[in-house]
Amino acid sequence: MSNFDVLILGAGAAGLMCAIEAGKRGRRVVLLERAEKIGKKILISGGGRCNFTNLHTQPKHFLSENPHFAKSALARYTPADFIALVEKHGISYHEKTLGQLFCDNSATQIITMLESECRYANVKIVVNANIREVRHDTSFAVSAGETEYRAPVLVVATGGISIPKMGATGFGYDLARQFGLKIVPTRPALVPLVFHPADRKRYSDLAGVSTEIIASAGNSAFREKMLFTHRGLSGPAILQASSYWNEGEALQIDLAPDREATQKIREAGTRTPAVAEKALREFLPQRLAERWLKFHPPKAWTNIALDTFERELHSWTIRPAGTEGYEKAEVTAGGVDTAELSSKTMEARKVPGLFFIGEVVDVTGHLGGFNFQWAWASAAAAGRAL
Ligand SMILES: Cc1cc2nc3c(=O)[nH]c(=O)nc-3n(C[C@H](O)[C@H](O)[C@H](O)COP(=O)(O)OP(=O)(O)OC[C@H]3O[C@@H](n4cnc5c(N)ncnc54)[C@H](O)[C@@H]3O)c2cc1C
Repeated sequence: MSNFDVLILGAGAAGLMCAIEAGKRGRRVVLLERAEKIGKKILISGGGRCNFTNLHTQPKHFLSENPHFAKSALARYTPADFIALVEKHGISYHEKTLGQLFCDNSATQIITMLESECRYANVKIVVNANIREVRHDTSFAVSAGETEYRAPVLVVATGGISIPKMGATGFGYDLARQFGLKIVPTRPALVPLVFHPADRKRYSDLAGVSTEIIASAGNSAFREKMLFTHRGLSGPAILQASSYWNEGEALQIDLAPDREATQKIREAGTRTPAVAEKALREFLPQRLAERWLKFHPPKAWTNIALDTFERELHSWTIRPAGTEGYEKAEVTAGGVDTAELSSKTMEARKVPGLFFIGEVVDVTGHLGGFNFQWAWASAAAAGRAL
C-alpha cells in the first residue's frame, strides 16, 4: 500500500498541471496514467506543435450548461501565466492567427516542460497504471496492478472520449456516476460534419477545396476557412460551428462574407453564365464557383433574380446527416455537470475530497488553444486548493 496526500487519475494536460501546483505546495502527489506515456494528446495537438493557449481567452469562448462556471478559474490562471512557464523553459513560440500560440518546434517541448516541473515538485508519475477500481471510506483507495494507492484527495483528470483509438474512455464519467454526480449528455464537438447523400453526390468530389466563409449554427457564427472532404465539410469554421450544431438542424453558410457578388454581373453589358462565373471566381476557388453555378444558377438575369442569387450565396443552408463522431472529434462536449462542482476549486459539492478537472467537466472550448487553457486553469484551481 502507498499513501499520498493527493491521487490524480490521468497524466494529460489537466492532470500534469494539477500535480505541479499541488506538488509545489508540498503535497505528496501520485499521478496514475493508464497509457504507456504521459500527455499523448498534447503530443498530437496543433498538428504536432501544440496550440497551448489563446491570447484572447474569455468566458465567451467556452460552451457549458452554465456559461458562468468557467469564469473564476479562467480569471485566476490566465494565458499569461502559462506563457510565463513556457518562457521560463526557453520554449520559443509564435502567434499563428487569432491569438493562437504554437510552439515553434514541437509539442514534445511542452511535455518535457511539464515533466520537469513535476520532477521539481516531487510528483510521482506511474504509467501503464491499470486502474481496476476506486473505493472511498475515510480516504480514497485506487487499485492499480499490485499496488493500492490511498489519499484523502482524488482528482479525476481522465479527459473525454474523443479519439478512442488513442485509448480515450468514459472512465471519468463512470466514476462521477459511481459517486452520484450528474452528467450532462456527451457529444462529439469540434468535429467534421457529414453530408446528406444528395449533397454528398453534388459536392464530395470537391474534397480538398477550401474557402473563407461564415458558418452559423444556433446563435453562433464563425468566420474562418471551410474545407470540403470526401464525406462532408470540415475546416476551422465548420469545426467551430459543429460544437453548436444539433442533430437534424440546419447550418447556414455565407460563401461570400462582406462581398456583393452580383455587383459585377449587374454592371456587365451582357449578363451571362461566363460573367457570373468570373464574378464568383473573385472570391471562390474555381471548382467551387463552377459547382455553385451548376446547382444554384440565377433563375434569370433580372435584378430580382440576381437579388435571390446573392441571398443564396450568403445563406447556403446545409442539413448535415451527422458528424464524423468521436473518432474525429477534437473534444467531447458535455460531461460532469458543473452544478455538482465548486467553480473555485472543482471539488464535488457532495463528496469532499473528490475533484474533476479538464475535459471531463462540462466545459468545452472553441478551437484555437482554448481547450488547453481550460485544462491548465481548472487544474490550477484544484491544485492550489489542495
Ligand atoms: C487531434 C487533437 C488535437 C488537439 N489540438 C489541440 C490544440 O492544439 N489546442 C487545444 O487547446 N486543444 C487541442 N485539443 C484538445 C485537447 O487535447 C484536450 O482538450 C485536452 O488534452 C484535455 O486535457 P485533459 O487533461 O482533460 O484530458 P487528456 O489530455 O485527454 O488526458 C487524459 C489522460 O487520462 C488518461 N486516462 C484515461 N482514462 C484513464 C484511467 N482510467 N486511468 C488512468 N489514466 C486514464 C489518458 O490516457 C490521458 O493521458 C486537441 C485534441 C485532439 C484530439
